[in-house]
Amino acid sequence: MAFNLPALPFAHNALEPHIDTTTMQIHHSKHHQAYVDNLNKAIAGTDNENKTIEELVANAGGISAAVRNNGGGHWNHSFFWDSLAPNAGGTPTGKLADAINEAFGSFDVFKEKFAAAGMTRFGSGWAWLIVKDGKLEVSSTQNQDNPLMDVAEVKGNPILGCDVWEHAYYLHYQNRRADYLAAFWNIVNWNKVAERF
Ligand code: MN
Repeated sequence: MAFNLPALPFAHNALEPHIDTTTMQIHHSKHHQAYVDNLNKAIAGTDNENKTIEELVANAGGISAAVRNNGGGHWNHSFFWDSLAPNAGGTPTGKLADAINEAFGSFDVFKEKFAAAGMTRFGSGWAWLIVKDGKLEVSSTQNQDNPLMDVAEVKGNPILGCDVWEHAYYLHYQNRRADYLAAFWNIVNWNKVAERF
């Protein structure tokens, strides 16, 4: 079964001024669409055609570079859109807030560690908040890898991710990845993150 591009859960302009409309249009309808199309090409006519995206991602390293890159791209972007919302941001509450405080000391320290993971990822990749052995951790991956993959250096269950590829921010922020990462906190859908947790 071929994969399809999921609809964005908000309008292209909904995340302004933090993520600009043109970036959202290109990121979703061109970049994410290309991962979907290339994933479908990579699995067409193979045993992998009937697998779920979760199964493909979990075994990506053992399947092929095309499935690793494009299956990862599809999973990561679907997860990313659901992690964002207009009029969002603020601070997490309840059990998630407690777990963040327990793991990092405070919400501010967590945000510093997450931003540092995004800043120190050389080239293209992702910053993650994951659940590993029942505890929260920050990690990062290269390219379109993610913490669910067999090839991930740090494995875990992601509950928040931030795309730090230049295509995610360059039109509005140019080389200022730090400014993009700072703006990211205004659009995090903590309700969704808490639900995943
Ligand atoms: Mn992207």
